[in-house]
Amino acid sequence: MSLSIPFDNSYAQELTGLYVPWQGQDWSDPQIVVLNESLAHALGLDLDALRGPDGVGMLAGHALPEGARPLAQAYAGHQFGGFSAQLGDGRAILVGEVLDRDGARWDIHLKGSGRTPFARGGDGRAVLGPVLREYLVSEAMAALGVPTTRALAACTTGDKVLRQFGLEPGAVLARVAASHIRVGTFQFFAARGERDKLNLLLDYAIARHDPDLTGTEGAALQFLERVGRRQACLVAQWMGLGFIHGVMNTDNTTISGETIDYGPCAFMDQFDPATVFSSIDQMGRYSYGNQPAIVLWNLARLAEALLPLIDPQEDRAIRLASDVISRVGDAYQQEWEQVFARKLGLEAPDADLVEEMHRIWQDQDVDFTSFFLALPATLDGDAAPLQSLFKTPGRADAWVQRYRAAIPDPAAAKVRMQSVNPVYIPRNHLVEEALHAASFDGDLAPFRALLARVQAPFEPLAGMERYARPAPQDAAAVVTYCGT
Ligand code: AMP
Ligand code: MG
Repeated sequence: MSLSIPFDNSYAQELTGLYVPWQGQDWSDPQIVVLNESLAHALGLDLDALRGPDGVGMLAGHALPEGARPLAQAYAGHQFGGFSAQLGDGRAILVGEVLDRDGARWDIHLKGSGRTPFARGGDGRAVLGPVLREYLVSEAMAALGVPTTRALAACTTGDKVLRQFGLEPGAVLARVAASHIRVGTFQFFAARGERDKLNLLLDYAIARHDPDLTGTEGAALQFLERVGRRQACLVAQWMGLGFIHGVMNTDNTTISGETIDYGPCAFMDQFDPATVFSSIDQMGRYSYGNQPAIVLWNLARLAEALLPLIDPQEDRAIRLASDVISRVGDAYQQEWEQVFARKLGLEAPDADLVEEMHRIWQDQDVDFTSFFLALPATLDGDAAPLQSLFKTPGRADAWVQRYRAAIPDPAAAKVRMQSVNPVYIPRNHLVEEALHAASFDGDLAPFRALLARVQAPFEPLAGMERYARPAPQDAAAVVTYCGT
């Protein structure tokens, strides 16, 4: 069955000079490993055709369908605080855009599709483990209600790729996003002083993400604020789940407000704001507790890139942009309070209660996710499951009393909590187990079982307790490597 996709390639058509037209690489034996059928359906893609040779051709990138105008996007970025003027899609291509059943526009993008002119020293490849990690974690995030790129498919290429721990199966991730425009995309043209292209990009981004701002006065400044608010809400949601992105470089910070580029990311088990999982983050720059400050820092870099479009007078532009960043900081704080109010089942934020909760967690190795799952029982008078999460007996007693007093209607609170506090998250030890089995034993069963759980994160299932439990105490500390 042949694959026919009505691509609508606005990035290719409207942004000439902001990308390099580019094709995917030819592979020896491309095969689909996982296909996201419900996402494919929502995009109006034909499942039989996707499973056939044409579908594999598109999803692995070696034979793109007619109508696609594949390209590698140019972008720059601050990586761990240092500016790289030229990053870009080194091993990825934007295949094209599709309009879904509701008319919304989505990028279809491939990661691991071969070297591009932006590859620098890289091999242009991705390997199966990290591809499946992104698949699993992005689908978990979507199910948790967090804005994110989605995984459409994972394919193996048939080739072996050399990585830190030896040869691994080469793989390509097909993903879908509201767009792949990053803070770093603006930085690329700002750093080169290419004002026309910067303007073109801004107009395009506004038309795509904030169409109501089109043609309005002060659109650049308003756009900055919109992006800021989306990112502030996003990071507040991460914080409420214990999610650590791991590489919050400006090239991994989207304009759409979607989580992007899942590399050495992970969900924190035991609460500790200093938690870092990435092997390359020696200084803890992107630790759990630093994420709110870092997102504001990244937005300040976007503001810098937009300055000439905000106001011709630089000092005025700086003042206006600083006000926006400061408002976004306030918006983050409010959103964070809302997130934790919902997690506690409160009707309205209670900053003192949340602060005290964080205080009693200190040095107690409390499992972040389990804590919130133990709350409903305390409302029924059974605080034992919650107490058992603390090292020090009695540590939570006073807090539990305050908490119960703050909940006038336990039944309503339980309903609120149930829809925001997940039972199943992609716990690190389970992710590692699933990735290892897939990469080194060719066994996808653990991956599929874990994927099924995290796709329905709020529904406890009998017999699936293993997926809800923290790592055993003797589990090796998880460190994820950037060898995506
Ligand atoms: P990431 O860590 O995936 O966010 O990528 C950061 C930058 O490095 C981007 O410009 C990527 O395209 C590039 N990059 C990462 N891995 C590779 C690779 N294996 N080959 C070529 N470019 C890469
Ligand atoms: Mg990236």
